[in-house]
Amino acid sequence: MDSQEQTHEQHAPAGTGGQPSEDADVEVEREHDAPEPAELDPETRARRDAALRHVRKFGDPVLRASAVKVERFDDDLRAEIETMGRLMHDAIGVGLAATQVGVLHRVLVYCAYADDPVTALVNPELEWASEELEVAEEGCLSLPGVHVEVERPSRVRVRAQDGEGEAIEVEAEGLEARVIQHEIDHLNGVLILDRISREARKEAMRAMREARETASAA
Ligand code: ZN
Repeated sequence: MDSQEQTHEQHAPAGTGGQPSEDADVEVEREHDAPEPAELDPETRARRDAALRHVRKFGDPVLRASAVKVERFDDDLRAEIETMGRLMHDAIGVGLAATQVGVLHRVLVYCAYADDPVTALVNPELEWASEELEVAEEGCLSLPGVHVEVERPSRVRVRAQDGEGEAIEVEAEGLEARVIQHEIDHLNGVLILDRISREARKEAMRAMREARETASAA
């Protein structure tokens, strides 16, 4: 997931028609406030562009594939995790799924807040999700130029393994919960485009086309 997301609305629990309740207009500040690419210094931008070249973009069939469970917790896996963490960092993303780099392993990395260490989740399973939903803007390193509002459970509990195969459990809320869900979606071949209205999808496709034209003109 890229770092442009911004939570600006908290929804009442599901089943209320999706209207925010009166006391739910809480503004959640973006805590991982990455600068727009245009504001990046040349070196950072070059590093970002190089990293993004390793990230599969919309249209690549691998983004629609379901990743398979990891059975071997070896040095190769740990190297893969490290590479993903570096690419995510260089691309100024907050999360990256293995499918996005063309690897069909159930592996994701994320770092929701700049000061946090990178967390890797191997074989993540969504164990519980809150009924309370939240709408926030999301972007995706595989969908250049796309920023759409996506509704998701605001809190989740995830069971996974680390790079050594040790069981871990993560309870998350806010941006962290959102990033984890976004990346688990990737492992199932699901993109944010699948979670928005037809109208919003059309607009997203247009934004992506424009981003591509800008990129090829540069
Ligand atoms: Zn994504």
